[in-house]
Amino acid sequence: MATPLHPQTLLTLAGQHTDGAYNSVALPIYQSAIFRFDSPDEKPGYDYSRSGNPTREALETTLAQLEGGAGAVCVGSGMAAVATVLALYDAGSHIICSHDCYGGTERLLTWYERQGKLSVSYVDLTLKGNLEAAIRPETKAIWVETPSNPLLRITDLEAVGELTGQLDIDFIVDNTFLSPLLQQPFQFGADFIIHSTTKYLNGHSDVVGGVVVARTEEGRERAHFAANSTGATAVPFDSWLVLRGLKTLPLRLKQHCENALIVARFLESHDLVKKVFYPGLETHEGHELAKKQQSGFGGMVSFELDERVAEIKTLLGATKIFTLAESLGGVESLIEQPATMSHASMREEARLEAGITENVVRLSVGIEHVSDLISDLEEALDKARCLTPNRVRGLNRVHA
Ligand SMILES: *Cc1c(COP(=O)(O)O)cnc(C)c1O
Repeated sequence: MATPLHPQTLLTLAGQHTDGAYNSVALPIYQSAIFRFDSPDEKPGYDYSRSGNPTREALETTLAQLEGGAGAVCVGSGMAAVATVLALYDAGSHIICSHDCYGGTERLLTWYERQGKLSVSYVDLTLKGNLEAAIRPETKAIWVETPSNPLLRITDLEAVGELTGQLDIDFIVDNTFLSPLLQQPFQFGADFIIHSTTKYLNGHSDVVGGVVVARTEEGRERAHFAANSTGATAVPFDSWLVLRGLKTLPLRLKQHCENALIVARFLESHDLVKKVFYPGLETHEGHELAKKQQSGFGGMVSFELDERVAEIKTLLGATKIFTLAESLGGVESLIEQPATMSHASMREEARLEAGITENVVRLSVGIEHVSDLISDLEEALDKARCLTPNRVRGLNRVHA
């Protein structure tokens, strides 16, 4: 058997040489809802684009290869990927989820719980013993996000995989923060991997999309059935854009990781910053584990501003290169306040339990020249410095 291609090569070639009609080198966008039958008794390879489309399929094949899974289904958003996986579980199933999961995932799980479809336990999976204690006879799946959002806690994938391997419980990983190039959850026994392709995989902040990758062919069939039945599948043009974005993923990630470490070290040495959350820092609690199960630390950096000496709102409004916006993983750098932006959909109680206070700032470090990023943060932090310390902050605050 031929040696498997390196991801960089696989992605460069992805989708090429598929056009039998004109030999186009780039993948065509098959912008057609329907496909012709040659005869009434002969079903064509594709019949209707909700069920299957060649452009989407090229992306699905590529993402499955990258993750090392049997197959994938691309859907209209990361949340559609979450919903597609959750649709696989019968009413009454119990799901265990990282307590600091993506805000939209927590919102969907809470809604399903209120409707009586699923029951959910939110658990700090970084602490040994917590997972075992949460397992019930009706537990059907464990939902892991590592590094978590926004505090970048690291969960031991091998330990979760060992446990779910012994029990009949699915192991699901939201791998959005790292991409398949920096973390390979199937190697640790995961059954399903989801991504918001909106983030690093597309990488250009111009598509909202998602994917479910399955380890087994049976898993792929179940996920495809769910996505086709609910109509969640992705459209051809967006699939084409994500495949195009993917071609530069290895180059982009290299720069994201390099820049993020420099930004994290800069913040760590800044007097207005209380704490920096970046798994690449030796001071990060999950550093050793991240080194073991990841092949890079990623482009996300969070930090806690010292509220006594700095005004967070001023900082958020003062950056010029870091754009004030939610989302992450695009080529451009972003800054945001999780408590009021990306995690606003989370119940306040859940948010505080996960340690997401109003002083936490999250950065998606882009691929700009890192010196420009550091100057931008330096100047913005200077503007955010309080001349008289905020000693009683929080006491007279008006609650909206
Ligand atoms: C953005 C995100 C999602 C949801 O994806 P959308 O494409 O916005 O629907 C899910 N999980 C994580 C970790 C995310 O960052």
